[in-house]
Amino acid sequence: MAELDSLIDSMIQQRSTSDVASINDEYKSEIDIRQTFSKGQGVFAKHFLSVKHAICSLSYPTMMAIDSDALQKTCYRCLLVTATKLPLPEYGRVSKELKTCSGCHIARFCDKACQVKAWHAYHKYECAVFKKRQHNLPSAILRAVMRIVLLKDRDVLPSDEWRRIISLTSHEQVSRVRSNLTDMAEGIKHLAQSKMSVETIQRLLFVMKFNATELPTPVYGSAGVMLDPLVAKINHSCEPNVSIHRPQQTMISGWTDSTQLSEDERKTFIHLVPLRDI
Ligand SMILES: [Zn+2]
Ligand SMILES: [Zn+2]
Repeated sequence: MAELDSLIDSMIQQRSTSDVASINDEYKSEIDIRQTFSKGQGVFAKHFLSVKHAICSLSYPTMMAIDSDALQKTCYRCLLVTATKLPLPEYGRVSKELKTCSGCHIARFCDKACQVKAWHAYHKYECAVFKKRQHNLPSAILRAVMRIVLLKDRDVLPSDEWRRIISLTSHEQVSRVRSNLTDMAEGIKHLAQSKMSVETIQRLLFVMKFNATELPTPVYGSAGVMLDPLVAKINHSCEPNVSIHRPQQTMISGWTDSTQLSEDERKTFIHLVPLRDI
């Protein structure tokens, strides 16, 4: 019975999300989101894609968080990772001292510009919460969900972002049985002092659990978790043919600031790259 409920739920969900258009116009000649009966929505190549070229470039994700043990060495805005032992071609070694946020003592920044940007974009909503939980900081996944809860509560999310995220496939069961995710949702609601329902926060946790990817660094592997609605639609295969890649310039110049970068390079947070010809 529970399986039937779940099947019906996912069919309703698929029907209601079939209009989710997450592909920028500039990439619509390359890729397409299509619905398949057995596998749900996915991203498909519209024509031959060479392994030599990135499929598309995406900007800074709304939902993301740095792992607790990476917070000390990572700028909280541009994600510059300091103290790398690896010399970077063209750039040498990165060594920059990070300044700690005097509010929460958790977030660290490479410079004032990053601190100001992060403050206005999201940290002013999180800082007091982090301060309370300084010695028992929630995991990265919970912090990523808490960020979108805080931004949605204050109505400051980029347009359409809420719909793109909340409508992602989550495999959430329709049964009303409590789970540990219910406890986590209640915890987030309490910490964020949110007016959002526990059910909605629980759905965000399911969405995050089934759609999140690692937050990649240009050379290290993962520094946390992120969720991008488009990446989520390429992330359900047992035989992946696409990967996400952070361009190396984001390691040294941070994510957006260098004036030596072109407009496109400044906008780019990650590239989607084919792992083989598609
Ligand atoms: Zn920075
Ligand atoms: Zn702070």
